[in-house]
Amino acid sequence: VWKNCLVFIKDNIQPQAFKTWFEPIKPIKLSDNALSIQVPSKFFYEWLEEHYVKLLKVALTKQLGETAKLVYIIRMENTYGNKEPFTEKIPSSNRGNMSPQEMDVPIKSKNPELRNPFVIPGIRNIKIESQLNPNYNFDNFLEGDSNRLARSAGMAVANKPGGTSFNPLLVFGGVGLGKTHLAHAIGVEIKDKYPERTVLYISAEKFTQQYIESVKKNTRNDFIHFYQLIDVLIIDDVQFLSGKSGTQDVFFHIFNHLHQNGKQVVLTSDKAPVDMQDFEQRLLSRFKWGLSAELQSPDYETRISILKNKLYRDGVEMPDDIIDYVAKHIKTNIRELEGAIISLIAQSTLNKREVTIELAQQVVEKFVKNTKREVSIDYIQKVVSDYFEMDVATLQSKTRKRHIVQARQLAMFFAKKFTKASLASIGSQIGKRDHATVLHACKTVDNLAETDKQFRKYIEDLTKKFS
Ligand code: ADP
Ligand code: MG
Repeated sequence: VWKNCLVFIKDNIQPQAFKTWFEPIKPIKLSDNALSIQVPSKFFYEWLEEHYVKLLKVALTKQLGETAKLVYIIRMENTYGNKEPFTEKIPSSNRGNMSPQEMDVPIKSKNPELRNPFVIPGIRNIKIESQLNPNYNFDNFLEGDSNRLARSAGMAVANKPGGTSFNPLLVFGGVGLGKTHLAHAIGVEIKDKYPERTVLYISAEKFTQQYIESVKKNTRNDFIHFYQLIDVLIIDDVQFLSGKSGTQDVFFHIFNHLHQNGKQVVLTSDKAPVDMQDFEQRLLSRFKWGLSAELQSPDYETRISILKNKLYRDGVEMPDDIIDYVAKHIKTNIRELEGAIISLIAQSTLNKREVTIELAQQVVEKFVKNTKREVSIDYIQKVVSDYFEMDVATLQSKTRKRHIVQARQLAMFFAKKFTKASLASIGSQIGKRDHATVLHACKTVDNLAETDKQFRKYIEDLTKKFS
């Protein structure tokens, strides 16, 4: 019966839509003129209901006559790890007084209008830009003891995305050690080998913003569905999700779906999973399923080869003692290493003069010292709103909702603490308040810090982000 239905459906919709929405359906049984079909997720069911209910009805009545019924069985997503998926018959919640697991086919779609979705799978052609930077590839990711494991795991994943036990592959390491470069390199290589696969590189920060946006616009399901269509999902700097339970939750579901379907997930983080704070346990345990590979500070040999490679690519010559000097003094950050050499190249080509050790000293000094960045009030507002998973406009708004007021007061408190701005100026920048409001905010935060444990935690977390 289902086969015949499919033939009919296939003739009536676009091939891509058929593939996305009907091929994954499994017919389970037919009894009392009711056909039970298994769908992969609740979302999937809702989508069918919303978009294809009429088509399903026609197809089914053609086969079984007017009394035909359809029963959906949803595979529960949170039973990951069980060989046998639990099944849940569709609840009757919004189905009036029909028996719990059955509903008649002629159901009116709850919401026939498309709700301005993030993507409209199957209806429009799905085209996902990979967001990959081709300049970050394996060829120019030099190998050394410090990155050998991560690099070769990355290569293995690129050769067989989803087909190794390195799923997820989590690359972790300090600032400027090549996480982003390696993350892109994996994606670039996969695109090269398997052009038809959908690869997406995205920073955890951008992912979070998109998610918040989707909640605001009431398109959370479309957001999830979009991510579930990807073959290779690369998320950079997942430590950013720390403390963001909404985003973690949605990522958990996307992750499970992808993993279950043999799709590859690549993550980077500035910490090893064991050191990640404020993450849901179930998410951390997923991170540990595959391989965690560390990028360590490059050893001297690697630093020298990175510098020489950079010079070679730019067609610039530089005396060995200068290269040696730079490599010996900048040890823990490849970005700084590159920055220093670029600056030296600029000096020598612009001023047409030999690079001396003195010049190298000056440049290196600048790089080693200048690592501390100024915090601005804008930056503080951004960090505080991200931390509480809201946007800056909400933080600044006039609302009296407690958690928003608290976020705003914290932003004021940190602005007072970490910038030289006056109370009046802080007030005017954070939603046009006056200096008394800022003063009050600072006092409130001080008080809460004494009395409220949770609040003290907020302050600690945020302080780390500013110092
Ligand atoms: P992270 O994301 O860990 O902070 P990035 O990936 O941004 O670090 O790397 C910083 C810079 O160092 C980039 O310009 C990158 O190309 C370069 N880099 C990092 N590792 C290597 C490597 N093994 N070989 C060549 N360049 C590297
Ligand atoms: Mg990075």
